[in-house]
Amino acid sequence: MNDQLFVRPDNTSLPSAAAPSVGSCTLVGAGPGDPDLLTIAAARAIQQATVLLVDDLVNDAVLEWAAPSARIVHVGKRGGCQSTPQAFIQRLMLQEVQSGEQVVRLKGGDPFIFGRGGEEVEFLRAHGVSPRIINGVTAGLAAVTSLGAPLTHRDHAQGVVFITGHAKPGGAGPDWAQLAQTAHSARLTLVIYMGVAGANSITQGLLRGLPGDTPVAIVQHASLPQQRQAITTLTELPATMAREQLGSPSIIVVGDIVHCAALAAQAERSVDPQQGGDPALHNTSSFYDYDSEALPTRAPRRAAQP
Ligand code: SAH
Repeated sequence: MNDQLFVRPDNTSLPSAAAPSVGSCTLVGAGPGDPDLLTIAAARAIQQATVLLVDDLVNDAVLEWAAPSARIVHVGKRGGCQSTPQAFIQRLMLQEVQSGEQVVRLKGGDPFIFGRGGEEVEFLRAHGVSPRIINGVTAGLAAVTSLGAPLTHRDHAQGVVFITGHAKPGGAGPDWAQLAQTAHSARLTLVIYMGVAGANSITQGLLRGLPGDTPVAIVQHASLPQQRQAITTLTELPATMAREQLGSPSIIVVGDIVHCAALAAQAERSVDPQQGGDPALHNTSSFYDYDSEALPTRAPRRAAQP
């Protein structure tokens, strides 16, 4: 099955990257959960790994790309360890590279969006190892897209802030009131990671700069079959999360683009799935004048049956 992914339409295979002869380390973004969201570069790196160090929130299905001989080590809480200390993971990565292994450090979403990829890279570089990074689809992006909402729809937002709801131990964490004021005046969407435990205090802070009726979405297990979500308002956020029992891992999205999610949900309910939308807009490959108001009319593919 694995080989088939790399077969081009003309039936030639993609050349695989030359296998390195010394140890190496690649930080790979496994995406938000759906294994189909893995990049080709990620799948290829997983195939070539001799050791995989796997985080929590990485869907086991992506490990199907690993070679049968590869050693798979779960280094997250759900892997059996209470919570593998970060320093231990970093030392393990280095030790495996130094023993000549092709190490893949598999992280949920994107390796450089939260999730401590930056610390791991700094540690490796300080020890003379230069890791390769392969991006993944970050959970915040997948969560918003799964609702049918464009993250930066220009009618609703001018930008987006990816922010953690979980302060570094000993750190003060974001100034939510200040952030809310900026988000309000600059029309920014807030995409909050790790915000479940602190949802109450985050809400109180945000209400000091954003109207109580600001739309909010909570998306749990984005992109996975067990995905659940709710659309509510800022004032109602904690009560909605409690009532709908939305827990971790979830993304909380705050801002007017959530209106698009509500509209998308409405449209989905009213569309007959047999119809599948306007057939004239499917399978087009022509170039359009994007500035013109009207779509060009297309000749029917085949003559209508008499
Ligand atoms: N590097 C990851 C984020 C790691 S921080 C990324 O780019 O996505 C962990 C947080 O990410 C979780 O607490 C949750 O807020 C979010 N998260 C990860 N996977 C998720 C998913 N499938 N659905 C919703 N939130 C998710």
